[in-house]
Amino acid sequence: MRLSVNTFYGLSIGTVPNSTILFDPPIQQAELLKQWLQANKEYIEIVVSQKLYDKANQEIAQPCDSQIRKISQILSLNEVVKSFWIKARITIKTSENCVYFLACPGCSKACGGAYKYEFTCFYCNHEFPSPKPLLRFQAELFDGTWNLSAYVEHKEATMLLCMSGEDVIEAEEKEMPFCPDIFNQKLQDSQFLFQLRTSWNKARGKSFVRNTVIACLPATESSSASHSYEDKSSSFKGEGLL
Ligand SMILES: [Zn+2]
Repeated sequence: MRLSVNTFYGLSIGTVPNSTILFDPPIQQAELLKQWLQANKEYIEIVVSQKLYDKANQEIAQPCDSQIRKISQILSLNEVVKSFWIKARITIKTSENCVYFLACPGCSKACGGAYKYEFTCFYCNHEFPSPKPLLRFQAELFDGTWNLSAYVEHKEATMLLCMSGEDVIEAEEKEMPFCPDIFNQKLQDSQFLFQLRTSWNKARGKSFVRNTVIACLPATESSSASHSYEDKSSSFKGEGLL
């Protein structure tokens, strides 16, 4: 039931809990699926071996103006919007100025290993010469209508900071710890198009929405939340916030 493919960390499929999984069921749909599999075998192998399912290997399509939402509109809605684009400026907010975590190079899950020391991942059970520092930091996005807290990770974080997790560690080793203020000064005049994904997280018995930047593009003049869209937005609740 409700089968979904997830490419967040690696490739996995999911179902809802009361699903039943039948292997090789003797039904016509399964036969058609097998035929399709045979006919597309080469392509499927390329997709898997080159990880073409991974967002990092796909080109991000520029959103059209009507797809760009205002933060105030998103926040005023009762339901959680799963994925949306905004055009905003960004300020890096980090606790203890830490912008990376050490992760398994295979499955990207956070690991307890030390940098440049061999370790075995608890999740994927593979051995690696060192965990990989992956960038992740919290940021405040603002578009003039409201602010939104979001996590920026991996490729998008590297693009914004113009440095990798390895670069941050190298700088730390040279006694030049990461300084968010320097980056915030550089970023303060730049606008970006951010695609965000929301997920529900639970902590201390409370659930809250977590926003993660899943795509980031430099904003050009034409890629703005156009005025015509602003007019349409008057039907949204909470417009008084503006
Ligand atoms: Zn792993």
